[in-house]
Amino acid sequence: MKSLSILGSTGSIGRNTLRIVEQFPQLFSIKALAAKSSITLLAEQIQRFRPEMAVVFDENAAQQLSNLLPSGFRIDILYGPDGLKSAATLGSVSLVVGAMVGAAGLIPVLDAISAGKDVALANKETLVMAGDLVTARAAERNVRILPIDSEHSAIFQCLQGNDHKDVQKLILTCSGGPFRHKPMHEFAGITVSDALSHPNWDMGKKISIDSATLMNKGLEVIEAHHLFDIGRDRIDVVIHPQSVIHSMVAFHDGSVMAQMGIPDMKTAISYALSYPKRLPLCQDLPDFPRTGALTFETPDMDKFPCLKLACIACDIGETLPAVMNAANEIAVQAFLDEKIGFSDIPAIIQNTMDQHTVLTSPGLDQILCADAWARDAATASVNRRSK
Ligand code: MG
Repeated sequence: MKSLSILGSTGSIGRNTLRIVEQFPQLFSIKALAAKSSITLLAEQIQRFRPEMAVVFDENAAQQLSNLLPSGFRIDILYGPDGLKSAATLGSVSLVVGAMVGAAGLIPVLDAISAGKDVALANKETLVMAGDLVTARAAERNVRILPIDSEHSAIFQCLQGNDHKDVQKLILTCSGGPFRHKPMHEFAGITVSDALSHPNWDMGKKISIDSATLMNKGLEVIEAHHLFDIGRDRIDVVIHPQSVIHSMVAFHDGSVMAQMGIPDMKTAISYALSYPKRLPLCQDLPDFPRTGALTFETPDMDKFPCLKLACIACDIGETLPAVMNAANEIAVQAFLDEKIGFSDIPAIIQNTMDQHTVLTSPGLDQILCADAWARDAATASVNRRSK
């Protein structure tokens, strides 16, 4: 029986993880659940899965949660960064699911690794911001980082039984997002609801916007670079609109392995939860004759400058990926709040990156400082552009 702590239990990855736990109650138990908001859903999850501990954003939310639970219900309700640390390091937990959104996921994931917990990682920002630190700490503590991101799960699966030195390149597939066919001159008119309607995957708001700008793929390039210890020049991105192939690994003998499936995160989540075993999930398989041709295109970096910016950040490394990530979070939120237009997102990120003085070999404090600096710089840039 594996004991789990889920950081981000009410988001899309958290809810799918709990569906798997519910399907295999003999294999998994829930020890801690953490959620930022969605307190009503968290209260339901608590009553169903009976964790020892629940963590919310602040004292107010803790009181709200306590009011929603039956009187005398036995659970520790904690809040804030200390609460997250407790959920990430709880003694009875063997696997921490890092499913929080954005930069907030970094410290709890580092805490979990430091405490010797294996991590099933959906939060790509953790590796984008501090990939060198996180992978070094994991190696030091002999901890596994199991990818939940579908592309990285695909690569991880293709690598099983193969030698790292035989890998020629990694090929990340990308659906292309909802604006693949939209002419660039129409980008200024893109609305929030246009950008939220992803053609293949059903995801949270932040990642849906990142998918529309292709920043999501840029973040995934950096994530793959750290997770699989491979140079950026050996990571290709290819547009594959059908989203049947979730990513590929090319080997030196010319062989290319692809992992395929329907676009449903449960396969990747279950593989991370049960690795190296596979669970009988009873998922549908791709309907190949109905899908028809699987097609591939080169991404248009001029139309989607976020992907180019992420490649630059990956090449320079140090504090630049954290700066890029923070500026992206601010710009995406400003777009969702309808303060800026779609085309302002890459402009704000680039502007923030251009202003940053890169620090070499940064520690955690310096990375967090760079993140905070970038948020201020990007906010100022948003205010200058606000509609
Ligand atoms: Mg992905």
